[in-house]
Amino acid sequence: MKNNLKSHSIISMRDTMSNIGIEPYRGDQIFKWIWQKNAKDFSVMTDISKELRKSLSSKFTISALNIDKIVQAKDGSKKFLLDTEDNKKIEAVFIPEGKRKTVCVSTQIGCPLHCKFCATGLMDFKRNLKAYEIVDEIRIIQENIDSKITNIVFMGMGEPLLNIKEVMDAIKITCSPIGLSISQRHTIISTVGLTQGIHTLLLSPLKVKLAISLNFPDEEMRKEMMPITQKNPLKEILKIAKEYSLKKNMVTFEYVIIDKLNDRIKDARRLLKLLKGIPSKINLIPYNTYPSLPFKRPSDKKIKKFHQYLLNSYHTITLRKSRGQEILAGCGQLAALHPLKSGDDVS
Ligand code: SF4
Repeated sequence: MKNNLKSHSIISMRDTMSNIGIEPYRGDQIFKWIWQKNAKDFSVMTDISKELRKSLSSKFTISALNIDKIVQAKDGSKKFLLDTEDNKKIEAVFIPEGKRKTVCVSTQIGCPLHCKFCATGLMDFKRNLKAYEIVDEIRIIQENIDSKITNIVFMGMGEPLLNIKEVMDAIKITCSPIGLSISQRHTIISTVGLTQGIHTLLLSPLKVKLAISLNFPDEEMRKEMMPITQKNPLKEILKIAKEYSLKKNMVTFEYVIIDKLNDRIKDARRLLKLLKGIPSKINLIPYNTYPSLPFKRPSDKKIKKFHQYLLNSYHTITLRKSRGQEILAGCGQLAALHPLKSGDDVS
């Protein structure tokens, strides 16, 4: 089987070239062709001699995800259903907002954590994505929309910190000036709060932002709705979050507000009590309903009241605008199950 050059970091690309007697700088050239110029084979690499291109194509291959479908929402968001080389489906979402062009990427096919309110949690877990597959989600969207991606959120299918090595390797490519050149300051990893994974991030040289999907300030309710809480108690999550905020970047706590579950003022009060003393922001996310899940979004009045209560605290509070709901591209709606029923297929 031929060696897939997309699976290499810049260092191992240079080493691979060197090992077959080619100058290491050729590795940089190929890396740019792959990630910046969307090369899918060696024939387009015109700054490399024909002879060398022929030799490279006899030894190496360049893999790519394929677009199955694209569906566009009225607000301009686009959901991409993508095929992996082993014929599995993943989803990634493009979210434009003025100059900011964000891609929400998946890190796993399915998710083993099965949070009760999440559509991805309904899927069987198939496998972790490789670093190059994660980066390819962004590259293929950038190629398709013909516009530079400025922001990445690791908030698609899967829990990024369960696949932390590949996620960290992917970030090394996305932030590289000869890769996708997207700043780490514009990169957010969103986790349910896996303390061991956060610890690994804390010790790493990465400077990405961290968001913790907290959602239920009542520990018993959180255990029920997010079973991983059994192994990652709130107390430990908050402790490591504080450390991250103090040593790296200010952590954002995401709060998906769900009708009759966590939308009372009592819950807001509890949330603020928990976060006392932790430099942090709160991102309030009205729940996006999903056809086969029983949960509902609270009324606008209730959301406003909850939001207003939080605004009286010292935290920065943002109320997330729902994007791409009608094409099931919103937060917690990615499942590749009922992939692209609504919206306009623009592929
Ligand atoms: S919320 Fe995140 S961790 Fe929980 S099931 Fe969904 S994708 Fe997995």
